[in-house]
Amino acid sequence: MQYDLIVVGMGISGISAAIYAKNSGLNVLMLEKNTPGGLLNKINTINNYPGVGEITGPDLSYKLFQSVNDLQITYKIAEVENIILIENKKVVQTNIGDFEAKYVILATGRKNRNLGLKNEEQLIGHGISTCALCDGALYKGKEIVVVGGGNSALEETLYLANIVKKVYLIHRRDAFRAEFSLIKKVEEKENIEILYNSTITSIKEENGKLKEVVINDKIHLEVEGLFTYIGYEANNFLKDLDIYNETNYIKVNENYETSIQGIYAVGDCIEKKIYQLITAANDGAVAGIHVSKEIKKN
Ligand code: NAP
Repeated sequence: MQYDLIVVGMGISGISAAIYAKNSGLNVLMLEKNTPGGLLNKINTINNYPGVGEITGPDLSYKLFQSVNDLQITYKIAEVENIILIENKKVVQTNIGDFEAKYVILATGRKNRNLGLKNEEQLIGHGISTCALCDGALYKGKEIVVVGGGNSALEETLYLANIVKKVYLIHRRDAFRAEFSLIKKVEEKENIEILYNSTITSIKEENGKLKEVVINDKIHLEVEGLFTYIGYEANNFLKDLDIYNETNYIKVNENYETSIQGIYAVGDCIEKKIYQLITAANDGAVAGIHVSKEIKKN
């Protein structure tokens, strides 16, 4: 069976694209390797997405997934491995088989950046986390460290401070880049201690679990939890496609077309200025509409 459109990734941008394409009468397949919603599932509170009030990330993910079901958009849980171009056709190769379409929209998102410390990878899930919402409760009444100076680090610090005994917030510079209102709340919270001009130089473990975080090679913090919020890197893995910039984000034009005819990209995996839920939804809508118009032209 050949689909009109395959959307890779069921985050907010991919789902928005699929909604517009499906409503235009296209035969759409969505592919997702993990949980619908993507990184949204790791956000504890959203208050800047119009029309839904204050909502948790998992709840918004669920609503998005409901739209997929309500519109009867076909989806499969599958890991995309490669995309092969054969004349005007795209063959999307996955771990559960190949799927064909005229058009593909990549909506593969971003993943949290690592600190790059020696034993960091092994300690993820054993003291190191990038999801306060998922893992915060494990540290109830304990002392923890959060690293980062952007909106994510400060929002999650505030969330964690209501669960744990104390949060050390570590930032490498002398000023946060987060919004002023967040900085004010963090500064006012009694159980948050901010350490500016501070870099985590090593982490120590005991019996396979995080035991200590060392700052600037001289301050030793005995903590069981370390939450890292130091930004993201694009989830771009289709190395055979020549569509990436030097930092691994996908280059697109104003219609979200890549340099390969029939392949589009939207959301957090593309090169752009503002990475927000609403801009991701916008990307998906524009691309979904553009693909629909192109199909109707031919
Ligand atoms: P971000 O804005 O890129 O901030 C990353 C932070 O990590 C920066 O403070 C950076 O320090 C620090 N950092 C980077 N690499 C580091 C390293 N190797 N070691 C130590 N620190 C490091 O990331 P984000 O906070 O996740 O936000 C990403 C985007 O989502 C932003 O556009 C943000 O506005 C948006 N966002 C919005 C909301 C909201 O609207 N409520 C919530 C969350 C995120 P420097 O400052 O020194 O570079």
